[in-house]
Amino acid sequence: MRKNDFDVIIVGAGPAGLAAGYVLAKEGISVAIIERGIFPGSKNVMGGIFYRSSLDDLIPDFYKEAPIERHIVEQKIWLLSEDSMFSTGIKSEKYNVEPYNCFSIFRAKFDKWFAKKVADASAMIINETVVKDLILDGDRVIGVKTDRPNGDLYCDVVIAADGVNSFLTKSLGLRKKITTNNVALALKEIIELPDKVINDRFGVSGSSEGVTIEITGPYFDKMRAIGFVYTNRNSLSLGLGVVTEDMVKLKINPNDLLEKFKSHPAIKPLINGGETKEYMAHLIPEGGYYSMPKLYSNGFMVVGDAAMLVNSIHREGANLAIESGKFAARTYIEAKKIGDFSQKTLSSYQKKLEDSFVLRDLKTYKNLPKLLEEKQYLISKYPKFIIDAMYEMYNVDKVSKSEKIKLIMNKAKKELGYFNILKDVFSVWRDFR
Ligand SMILES: Cc1cc2nc3c(=O)[nH]c(=O)nc-3n(C[C@H](O)[C@H](O)[C@H](O)COP(=O)(O)OP(=O)(O)OC[C@H]3O[C@@H](n4cnc5c(N)ncnc54)[C@H](O)[C@@H]3O)c2cc1C
Repeated sequence: MRKNDFDVIIVGAGPAGLAAGYVLAKEGISVAIIERGIFPGSKNVMGGIFYRSSLDDLIPDFYKEAPIERHIVEQKIWLLSEDSMFSTGIKSEKYNVEPYNCFSIFRAKFDKWFAKKVADASAMIINETVVKDLILDGDRVIGVKTDRPNGDLYCDVVIAADGVNSFLTKSLGLRKKITTNNVALALKEIIELPDKVINDRFGVSGSSEGVTIEITGPYFDKMRAIGFVYTNRNSLSLGLGVVTEDMVKLKINPNDLLEKFKSHPAIKPLINGGETKEYMAHLIPEGGYYSMPKLYSNGFMVVGDAAMLVNSIHREGANLAIESGKFAARTYIEAKKIGDFSQKTLSSYQKKLEDSFVLRDLKTYKNLPKLLEEKQYLISKYPKFIIDAMYEMYNVDKVSKSEKIKLIMNKAKKELGYFNILKDVFSVWRDFR
C-alpha cells in the first residue's frame, strides 16, 4: 500500500496557506507547504493593510515582533472629480493604542516572517517548487505533481491556497469561469519619501503612526475603480484597482490611468519629491459571494483568494485568507480523528466559514458586484453631485444659503432625477437588507 509523504499538502505560502500550516503543525500534523516563489512573499502583492485580529488568535501580540510599517490611526475616504476632492473618514486615539486595529505592511517581508514562524512550528516549507497538477484516485485527491524530478507527493488532503488564479480549483471543476467582471487589475507603486515628510504631509505625530486613503469618484470616469494611498515608514504605497471588464470595454491603458491618478491636484502634493522604488501588478478577486467556487471535494479544500474570499468594499482579503486557512486546518484535524477525508466530512469547512464573519460579510455584500455592474454611476454621478453640492455650500458669493439649497435641489432633479434617486435608494436598500 502506498505511504503518504505528508498528512496535508498545502499549495501556496500566502496568508491562507501559512495560517493553515501553522494550525496543523502546532497540532503535530505532518504538513508541507509548497511555494513557487524563491521565498514566501516574493511573489505576493498587497496594498497593504493587515488587520490584526485574525492572526492574533494564532500568534498573540505578533505585531511586537513582525515586520510591520505603521499602525493605522486614521482611515480616510476621498471622492475625486477633475479639480476637487471631498474627504470623510475616521481618526481616533482608540486606533493609537495597543494592540492596534491594523498595520501597513510589505508582504515580501511579512510573509517571510510568518513562514519562519510556521517552519519553527515544524511545517515543511518547500520553496521554488510549482505544483503542476493534482493526483487523483477516482474522484479523490490523494496528492500533487510538482515540477521537481520525482516530484509526486501523496497525502490525506490537499489544501489549495494558490491565490486568485487557482488552477487547482479549476482543474477539479469546482470553480466557475473567472470573468473579467469578477477580478480587478491592481497596480501598485512604492514611492520612497523621508519619514519626517510623510509625518508632516499626513498629519501624524510619529513614524509609527499611519494613515490610509481610499479613493473613488467621477475622476475615474465610467470605471469601477478604487485608488489607495497608504503610509509606510519611509514610503507610500499608492495604487489603483479597476474591474478588468471596464478597462477592456473603455480601452484604458492601466499605466496611463495610474499616471492620471498620480497627477490629480489632491494626490500630487502627497507624492511630490518621492522616488518610485517598485512597481507591481496583480489581480484581486472582486466577484464576491456568488463567484466563490465549491469549497471542498474528496481530499481537497480551497482557501483564501483561491476561494474568492475578498471583501473589497472593506479592503479585507489577507485576514479572510487567514480565517479560511484556520478553518480548513481545523476541519482536517476533525476528519483525521475519524479517518474520513470524504467531501461529506470536509463539508464542515464550509459550515465553519458560514458561521463566521467571513461568509456573513460576503453574504451582506453579495449583490454589490452586480449592482455596480448595472449602476456604475452610483460611484461616479452621486459622488460628483456631493462634491458639487459641498463646493456650492462653502463658496461664499453673496447668494443666500436658502437660494443655494434650491439650486442644489434643482441640480439633483436635473442631473439625477428625483424618481431615479428613489429607485436607486430602493435597489441599494433591497440589495443590502
Ligand atoms: C494591490 C492589492 C492590494 C490589496 N490590499 C489589501 C489590503 O490592504 N488588505 C487586505 O487584507 N488584503 C488586500 N489585498 C488582498 C490580499 O492580498 C489577498 O486577499 C491575500 O493575499 C490572499 O492570500 P492567499 O494566501 O489566499 O493568496 P496569495 O497571497 O496570492 O498567495 C498565494 C501563494 O500561492 C503561490 N502559488 C500559486 N500557484 C502556485 C503553484 N501552482 N505552486 C506553488 N505555489 C503557488 C503564490 O506564489 C503565492 O505565494 C490586496 C490585493 C492586491 C492585489
